[in-house]
Amino acid sequence: MDYESVIGLEVHVQIKTESKLFCSCPTGFGASPNSQICPICTGQPGALPVLNQKAVESLVKTALALNCRVNEESIFARKQYFYPDLPKNYQISQYEKPLSEKGYLMISEPAKKVGITRIHLEEDAGKLLHTIGPVELKYSLVDLNRTGIPLMEIVSEPDISSPEEAQEYLSRLKMTLQYLEVSDCDMEKGSLRCDANISVRPSGIKTLGTKVELKNMNSFRGVQDAIAYEIERQIGAIRQGERIVQETRLWDAGKKESRPMRSKEEAHDYRYFPEPDLLPLRLESQWIENIRQSLPELPADKRNRFLRDYLLSEYDAAVLTSDIHLADFYEKTVKQNPLPQFPKIVSNWITTELLGRLNEQNKTILDSPISPPHLAELAEMILAGTISGKIAKTVFDEMWQSRRNPKSIVQEKGLTQVLDEKEIENWAALAIQQNPKAVEEFRGGKEKALQALIGSVMKLSKGKANPERVNQTLKKKLSIDSK
Ligand SMILES: [Zn+2]
Repeated sequence: MDYESVIGLEVHVQIKTESKLFCSCPTGFGASPNSQICPICTGQPGALPVLNQKAVESLVKTALALNCRVNEESIFARKQYFYPDLPKNYQISQYEKPLSEKGYLMISEPAKKVGITRIHLEEDAGKLLHTIGPVELKYSLVDLNRTGIPLMEIVSEPDISSPEEAQEYLSRLKMTLQYLEVSDCDMEKGSLRCDANISVRPSGIKTLGTKVELKNMNSFRGVQDAIAYEIERQIGAIRQGERIVQETRLWDAGKKESRPMRSKEEAHDYRYFPEPDLLPLRLESQWIENIRQSLPELPADKRNRFLRDYLLSEYDAAVLTSDIHLADFYEKTVKQNPLPQFPKIVSNWITTELLGRLNEQNKTILDSPISPPHLAELAEMILAGTISGKIAKTVFDEMWQSRRNPKSIVQEKGLTQVLDEKEIENWAALAIQQNPKAVEEFRGGKEKALQALIGSVMKLSKGKANPERVNQTLKKKLSIDSK
């Protein structure tokens, strides 16, 4: 029997704000433990929460970009649970009336709509640090700096059917959030966290199987591996005649396996009730509308505009718009020159040389030692024939090392392409003299032998001869000499 998998993702995103969700404590990452706390976020008796408007605004932006309905009235709720990193013993979240609902995100290949059930606002909990060592010396430390940091929880419908689709959904979601500048989405710092609900069922059957919640996936790779593992585990268990238990499992990225953490809580275990310290949140429709009007260009729109305005291939447009900063870098470079070939050559240099180099060193476009005006200058020199493509790579190396502009590098090192007929002829004569075997083969009809002669001229000219001219000159010389 064949099985199919049904996957829904719950993504927690840290909203980029100066202060926490209900107090004015700062949100900076990496501060010394418990240096960013106050009576409100540590839940002292009598302290009252005050809602951060910027966090609401960022969530509304995200909701609109993900085609969600924004509720003009929403309610905060207390989610009760006891855990040492949660000093209030409850988390302020939203339950019955979230800020937004019923949207979708398109994922491609094949184009597919993944429904978004809801996006709600909630506060983060603190962090526990467990010491390692012999049992009698073991203890745990609590750092509450993270307590009260604003999060949005984005819950998808169970519309995802493979680990690859889950990865695609996540990367498109991350891209959108970065375009909106509502979060830095850094998985390593925990500002984007993903849990998955996974079940399997015989293909073609409508009823859902028992779902298992998977936690602790700390990277995009981890999400894909963990989901693939869990699908296999469930199918294997069913084939063995076992029953799937509803539970929460932890992914162990080192061992590449999941293990049971606890039996899954039901919503009623949390005894949700409306937060008595906060009024229902009411938003004016005009305020929501203003945010809608101010939304930036989103990834799919930018990709289409790149296809249309710069006549790029689908692939290049997708790569260049995969990151808002990369797209900005490209446009800043292209704007330097109106030539029609310019967008294409700039795209080639960015997608191959520049990105290749950045990836090698684990850097992003923001770390690029080469600036848009400098890259534009390099592309201009290639198009004008001042330097050959081969020399351009040498110049690019030097630009990467020294951050200097390409014109000064070319001038200083005398790298200008040689187009002069006389000079090329001298090199060609020398190459013919030094490679009698290649000459003989070429004259015997072996066209390929010419490559060796071209290579020899390029070497003699230290890469500066124009390859097109070299080709013509050699052919001319070889046919005259043989007569
Ligand atoms: Zn505080």
